[in-house]
Amino acid sequence: MTFVRSVCPHDCPSTCALEVERIDSRTIGRVRGSEANPYTDGVICAKVARYAERAHHPDRLKTPLRRVGPKAEPGGRNRFEPCSWDEALDMTAAALGEAAATHGATSVWPYFYAGTMGLVQRDGIDRLRHVMGYSREDDTICIRLSDSGWKAGAGVKRGADSREMAESDLIVFWGTNAVSTQVNAMHHAALARKNRGAKIACVDVYRNPTMEAADIPLLLRPGTDGALACAIMHVLFKENYADRDYLVRYTDADARLARHLEARTPAWAAAVTGLPEEEIVAFARLYGRTKRSFIRLGYGFTRQRNGAAAMHAASCLPAVTGAWRHKGGGALYSQSGIYKNLDQSVIMGLDRLDRRVRALDQSRIGAVLLGEPEALLGGPPVKALFIQNTNPMVVAPDLAKVRAGFARADLFVCVHEQFMTETAAAADVVLPATTFLEHDDIYRAGAHTWLQIGRKAIEPYAEARSNHEVLQGLARRLGAEHPGFDMTAWELIDDMLRRSGLPTAEQVWADGGVDFSKRFEDMHFLNGFAHPDKKFHFAPDWKSVGADHIAMPALPDHVEIIEKADAGHPFKMVVAPARQFLNSTFTETPGSQKREVRPTALIHPADMARLNIAEGNRVRLGNRRASVVVHARSFDGVREGVTVVEGIWPNKSFAEGLAVNALIGDDRAPPAGGAAFHDTAVWIKKA
Ligand code: SF4
Repeated sequence: MTFVRSVCPHDCPSTCALEVERIDSRTIGRVRGSEANPYTDGVICAKVARYAERAHHPDRLKTPLRRVGPKAEPGGRNRFEPCSWDEALDMTAAALGEAAATHGATSVWPYFYAGTMGLVQRDGIDRLRHVMGYSREDDTICIRLSDSGWKAGAGVKRGADSREMAESDLIVFWGTNAVSTQVNAMHHAALARKNRGAKIACVDVYRNPTMEAADIPLLLRPGTDGALACAIMHVLFKENYADRDYLVRYTDADARLARHLEARTPAWAAAVTGLPEEEIVAFARLYGRTKRSFIRLGYGFTRQRNGAAAMHAASCLPAVTGAWRHKGGGALYSQSGIYKNLDQSVIMGLDRLDRRVRALDQSRIGAVLLGEPEALLGGPPVKALFIQNTNPMVVAPDLAKVRAGFARADLFVCVHEQFMTETAAAADVVLPATTFLEHDDIYRAGAHTWLQIGRKAIEPYAEARSNHEVLQGLARRLGAEHPGFDMTAWELIDDMLRRSGLPTAEQVWADGGVDFSKRFEDMHFLNGFAHPDKKFHFAPDWKSVGADHIAMPALPDHVEIIEKADAGHPFKMVVAPARQFLNSTFTETPGSQKREVRPTALIHPADMARLNIAEGNRVRLGNRRASVVVHARSFDGVREGVTVVEGIWPNKSFAEGLAVNALIGDDRAPPAGGAAFHDTAVWIKKA
């Protein structure tokens, strides 16, 4: 058996180092985690361990396709016929050229996101964009809210090394379901529990597998994490757990902070969060007396209109206790800022970037395609979309608008994909894409500090081509000139490494990657945080974070700008990630489908009884945006008045062909935009 080294490309902070069994030049077998990488440590999730069923799935796109006949009505059948690569690329280049000639270059919108996280294959689309002057993309859909909140306090997106969890006495998973979505993090936490008796706490809105595995569950209402963080700080100050010396040396804390927190009592937070007051106090005391306390902050709790403020408030905790001083202490949201000196200029065509070109909000793709003037930022309508690595017909907010936008007869759409996703089915031209096993790429991580190369392990499936090859083909036809289009993917990797002062691609590959971790003092900000005054900011300069800063609090706080439940919409709905899916990826694999079963609303038994709903009944969830039908499951692991729908299931999995994101608003959350995926008020009725 031959196992070849690779890297998981999926939208998951773990970026696992993989070993892939290569059966022959076109076939893989088992996939396992590499023990050579100290973060992966031999552990990967089940869905990627089963990757052979995805790589060799009979539904992989084999050839380029072009639409036959008009776009189908929702639920109808779109018809395509195979064509050659030359025909498909010629058609696409002609449509992009015609839109630009008639309506201006910004009427073309290259649209992408995180279907692959490889720097060459994911970000190369920006090179074409910048060279051609096409509309830019404001990347708000995933991390904008969490980034805004973390950077407001720490100034840079990095934190304590996650391997230190194994040396902690208290690990707090805050708004991240690590068992389902970050299996390695749970592995390191479990080591700490086994070897040193560490406690694991989980702050979340439902009893997910991580909360089930935790010693201390903190089950709160959606959108109230800022209140919990403030009440913990209240206790830390009141009961003398605050590290006064640390606060003076490393933070901007002044008398205003303690005064501000005086009113944020556990009783106040209990009323806001739904947590019993005594649970808040007990946890605050445990956190206060445990110096080696590691908070793993996730994205989930920030997908609220007040999410940036909540992230900032939670990130304040180790600055109050001075946990940053201790091995195994501090916090981690993401390490992606540790790679800031990587020079991606050629890959992304940054020498041709013009910041005056409008940047359309990717989370508002429905509004953009429907021509809402405010979404178009005063520019022309979007007439042509070229899409790689994302499936907005399922994952974007306000799906009814997205669907109506894609149905426009005057809109040309080309989608480069591995499967006939619902976005691909709405296209005029569909191009078959390689998987990570079939091309070269290089990967940063969020949960750890390694830069790793994934080399082509098998030949491309059928006629599939990599993103980079498709961009080269379009660039030739469009007359887009840039050195990056003349290089292979491997040459782009090598060039980036050379520009960044790193070893060659061959060397990095041979070494299994480069570890960017810094000394303990730097990882723990003991040489200062990344603001000019080197302090952690309890009082952020929100103006420097985003234009919409008026809604942000002067000091850490709970902000009442969430979509509140009311008499007409008595439930708060959270669309949490499913364990066997990753966004809309893996919804096509039988192993994942079998385990996830069907779209289901988890509803508290008291709410089920009140609404006269029985287990397994079909229920309709709705609000002013849309309504969808799912099955109900009685579940006492949510607060009353909260429902959780794990996904992301395709539209076709829902009775009326419209997926649950149709209920979610596409408005920009402060201070810098971001989609509030878990901040939705709905009504529930028996269907
Ligand atoms: S845990 Fe995340 S990074 Fe690791 S194999 Fe699974 S999806 Fe990929």
